[in-house]
Amino acid sequence: MQFEFATATRIIFGEGAARQVALAAKPWGRCALVVTGRAPERASRLLADLEAEGAQSTTFAVEREPTVDLIARGLRQAHGERCDVVIALGGGSVIDAGKALAALLTNPGELLDYLEVVGKGNALQNPAAPFIAVPTTAGTGTEVTRNAVLGVPERQVKVSLRSPLLLPRLAVVDPELTLGLPSAITASTGLDALTQLIEAYVSIRANPMTDGFCVRGIPLVARSLHRAFHQGADQEARRDMSLAALFSGLALANAGLGVVHGFAAPLGGRFTAPHGAICAAILPFGMEINLRALRARAPQNAALGRYQDVARMLTGRPGAGAEDAIAWTREICQELEIPPLKAYGIGEQDVPALIAEAAKASSMKGNPLALTPEELQEVMTRSMGSV
Ligand SMILES: [Zn+2]
Repeated sequence: MQFEFATATRIIFGEGAARQVALAAKPWGRCALVVTGRAPERASRLLADLEAEGAQSTTFAVEREPTVDLIARGLRQAHGERCDVVIALGGGSVIDAGKALAALLTNPGELLDYLEVVGKGNALQNPAAPFIAVPTTAGTGTEVTRNAVLGVPERQVKVSLRSPLLLPRLAVVDPELTLGLPSAITASTGLDALTQLIEAYVSIRANPMTDGFCVRGIPLVARSLHRAFHQGADQEARRDMSLAALFSGLALANAGLGVVHGFAAPLGGRFTAPHGAICAAILPFGMEINLRALRARAPQNAALGRYQDVARMLTGRPGAGAEDAIAWTREICQELEIPPLKAYGIGEQDVPALIAEAAKASSMKGNPLALTPEELQEVMTRSMGSV
């Protein structure tokens, strides 16, 4: 057996950990670019901590999913203020913007030089500026992955900037930062983490180290996502979800993903919908059709037993079968008010293009087996909620 598990990120986890960010950043630079979300005032404590440490800072707000233009604007500000360290405090979009900005601060040219699909796809040459990721949601795990998802609205696509050099130097995961999250964001981000844990666990690239994170992470979601959704101030539930999200990032960065994220990539480029809500709407059908295809064409495939493990982890019942995992995910989608994809305006007319793009998506590569165009069509049609 041979496997690889890569992460260069130092991780600090725990309640109150966010107070350590300024001290950690101090030796790495003179001026910090602090990337925030829609509510920059959430960073006020961090800015005060930086000031107390004698560090300069400037704030850049990322109000929606980052685009090529937004990154160019942030980069101008960072160069103008001579920033040499980047701290991103926010959800997945904010952290992805921070990753791209840290990389471009030390690499010549512009973002398009390095983007796959829509740009030149050049490899980053220089290590990124020191980058600290501080997630305020519990879902994407992007604080420990080596890609940043960026939108190119005029092409209706989202593409990734990918490089091992994008791994944050430090991830500070403080569950207290998620205490006030609205329930809809708790739902979509939490179900993204669950999807990532399940897809990494059944991936063809799963290995004993990624398995460890999935086997510990899936039960945390099973135990605590309901509670985090209904009682947002429950500290234990928030801690479980922050840990599960972190584990999902470590797992997906090393094991890859599958059909659900394969579709989430092109859907995210064409429609305005939360990434996690898209994943959640597809998850039960992706699992069901994978399972059926495995039984028909690959009855010896280890993923069959793994779906059964997932069912046991989700339900807590030793006798649970793979179908129980599907039922569990359907029920939680209902309970957490996840709408079918048609709620975002996705219709039958979109399906052929989505199938073509999903089949090529890098996220699809970990799926336990290749699905036929008919099977992919069924996943999409049923996730839309039209049958
Ligand atoms: Zn995801």
